[in-house]
Amino acid sequence: ADRKRRAAAVIEEVERSLATPTALLRSIADAMVTEMERGLRGDIHAQLKMLISYVDNLPTGDEHGLFYALDLGGTNFRVLRVQLGGREKRVVKQQYEEVSIPPHLMVGTSMELFDFIAAALAKFVDTEGEDFHLPEGRQRELGFTFSFPVNQTSISSGTLIKWTKGFSVNGMVGEDVVSELSKAMERQGLDMKVTALVNDTVGTLAGGRYMDNDVVAAVILGTGTNAAYVEHANAIPKWTGLLPKSGNMVINTEWGSFKSEKLPLSEYDKAMDFESLNPGEQIYEKLISGMYLGEIVRRILLKLAHDASLFGDVVPSKLEQPFVLRTPDMSAMHHDSSHDLKILGAKLKDIVGVADTSLEVRYITRHICDLVAERGARLAAAGIYSILKKVGRDKLPINGSKMPRTVIALDGGLYEHYKKFSSCVEATLTDLLGEEASSSVVAKLANDGSGIGAALLAASHSQYA
Ligand code: ADP
Ligand code: MG
Repeated sequence: ADRKRRAAAVIEEVERSLATPTALLRSIADAMVTEMERGLRGDIHAQLKMLISYVDNLPTGDEHGLFYALDLGGTNFRVLRVQLGGREKRVVKQQYEEVSIPPHLMVGTSMELFDFIAAALAKFVDTEGEDFHLPEGRQRELGFTFSFPVNQTSISSGTLIKWTKGFSVNGMVGEDVVSELSKAMERQGLDMKVTALVNDTVGTLAGGRYMDNDVVAAVILGTGTNAAYVEHANAIPKWTGLLPKSGNMVINTEWGSFKSEKLPLSEYDKAMDFESLNPGEQIYEKLISGMYLGEIVRRILLKLAHDASLFGDVVPSKLEQPFVLRTPDMSAMHHDSSHDLKILGAKLKDIVGVADTSLEVRYITRHICDLVAERGARLAAAGIYSILKKVGRDKLPINGSKMPRTVIALDGGLYEHYKKFSSCVEATLTDLLGEEASSSVVAKLANDGSGIGAALLAASHSQYA
């Protein structure tokens, strides 16, 4: 009985500190809009960097030819080639390969990382078949999706601002990522030109727009989280160049670094942040994304093990190990709807090393998954809502006209595979928008849109175009 009381006390405190009432989400969205405006002004203290992508035109459908893309940004990287057939034929043929990055390369030197990537790319190019056609005398061209914050200096160059998501490669911050990749390709004897350097959000936006003309923003919910959207060029005070003909500029918000007193941070989040590779940074990302959700659950379970002997008299030593509980496992436990929570029990046995957990312990575990996932999903929805507010698509136009159809392209393993998470994002967005406005807003899965998007941008910025 005493144990039960202590468990209840911990759970109550968790519920309290993770709560995200709708009024709080609205005020978080307002704070994000304010930070977006600061970022667009170039305020160096702005929390959202609002990076200029140099993409002022999204794909039209006319793109033509053979293009490659490379996507680096998480635990895997992907290489892709696509034969584009213009307005009529669209994507004629597409092939891709996924390669996992050995963990030691994520914290090694830039030369090692880029040599590994360029070697995999060269191998992939070697398998190019008859269905792909490169006109005589032309160089192969590549769109490089790089999902870390970059100070873009043109469409095809930019310097790394900082690493995130568990990457910490030496000697890269401040360096031009395209020139690092190009040098590595040369070392491999691979003749290829990088014609577009894009963030994954920008790639997803481009790929999404190619599929659906009403896409105005792209959101990634994967290992990390970020968003990009189409802004009016004249609403970007820090842009000092010529106004683009289109009048538009794609902005990479880098919203993962958002931080605010308003964010519901628990003791578990604070401890996780403190022990992370980048303490004090990427706070919004650490509450939302796939790299962290399972770890937050682990920390709460550990507290319950300590304070309320959740897993018996001794605290299971496996549970003490950071990141043993991964978000896909959390998702599997959360979705277990069997009457005896059999799957969840098996996962606990696997991960925590406790064989026979009571039904009550399983229910508690599932409840913790629910609380952590729900907070993340609701905060993500607040972010999407803030972008809709920023571009004036959060409510009916004041002139009485109909609200234009508005599509958000979403991608990332978390959104794609964690059903309860993605449903909660959508339900919360509907709640924030209200009935009328939400009927014009669509969240659409743009499965691996960033790869094709990068290839499309490589095409529209081709040296031969
Ligand atoms: P990245 O974000 O690294 O570019 P992805 O978009 O494929 O790559 O996202 C991978 C991330 O998605 C994983 O790190 C994991 O956190 C999350 N994820 C993958 N599968 C699942 C799943 N079944 N349930 C919950 N999260 C998942
Ligand atoms: Mg990705």
